[in-house]
Amino acid sequence: MPELRKDPVIGRWVIIATERARRPGNFIDTFDTTADVGEPKCWFCHNRRKLIVPESPQGIRVVASNGDIFGEKKRFHRVRKGLYEVIDGVGAHEIIIESKEHIANLVELDPALVEDVIKTYAARMKALGEDGRYQYVVAYKNYGPTAGGRRISHTRSHIVATPVMPIKVHEKLEGAQIYYQQHKRCIYCDLIAQEIKDKARVVCESDHYVAIIPFAARFLFEVWVFPKAHHCDFSDGVGGSESDLAELLKTLLRKFQKGLNDAAYNFVVQTAPYPLKSDAPDKWATLKQDYHWHLEITPRLTRLAGFEKGTGFYICAIPPEAMAEYLRGIH
Ligand SMILES: [Zn+2]
Ligand SMILES: [Zn+2]
Repeated sequence: MPELRKDPVIGRWVIIATERARRPGNFIDTFDTTADVGEPKCWFCHNRRKLIVPESPQGIRVVASNGDIFGEKKRFHRVRKGLYEVIDGVGAHEIIIESKEHIANLVELDPALVEDVIKTYAARMKALGEDGRYQYVVAYKNYGPTAGGRRISHTRSHIVATPVMPIKVHEKLEGAQIYYQQHKRCIYCDLIAQEIKDKARVVCESDHYVAIIPFAARFLFEVWVFPKAHHCDFSDGVGGSESDLAELLKTLLRKFQKGLNDAAYNFVVQTAPYPLKSDAPDKWATLKQDYHWHLEITPRLTRLAGFEKGTGFYICAIPPEAMAEYLRGIH
């Protein structure tokens, strides 16, 4: 059973594996960047054993993960050990296998299938919220071995629900809340309006979405995708514009594929937390007004060095405006 341990100084939770510990001498993690294992041995082509919901007509499958992150315990308990706080690792980890065929990159899927992938994210994120044990859910994708995608090149995404709030989400929620208290407006809505007017950092835009390189980008070609309509929650907010988002994502990922030499990337859906039972009832009272869901897509082109690891400062070697201009020119 893995456990969640909290850093007592800054409150960051870490998932610690307890059972599957590597044997001494077996801790050098060699990222195997060799090519795909191939369709005959692909776990994702053939796995139908642990379907969580029925396979979709298009062939999308949602399966339980092999249990890398969390155990299967039904209830969790928090224990304090002096300064330290530990929670039994209760969480959910589901894998969305996006295609029946052995296809590596989401960008190669039909737009209708990408739309169904987005609808599957929304449905699973909503369903896990009804479970009642989780505070946060994240949908993410690792493409390419250096992004954590292992060496089986079969397009898939992950949904992970946790009983605690990730510290990065907490920082965003607090920042958005403070801005709302001062201005009575959503900071993301203001940011989107400014970026669309300015155009310098816009990579592409559709009726309902806009993709930008953030003003203070941390990583090379980091892109944020925002819905133009205000909504704090992905599952509800994306409803009705899934096909528009699918088209925009394909456009953007095509630019990565062609312009960034098929770089590995991660993308993460950043949504509002489930109702927060452990906090004072009024702490997040303006969440619906002050937070705005979005996607963060980060190509793995930047290696973090000591300065970044030690300070949380990032060094971005290309101005965001130049990165946006470059990506706008790739078709
Ligand atoms: Zn496969
Ligand atoms: Zn907003």
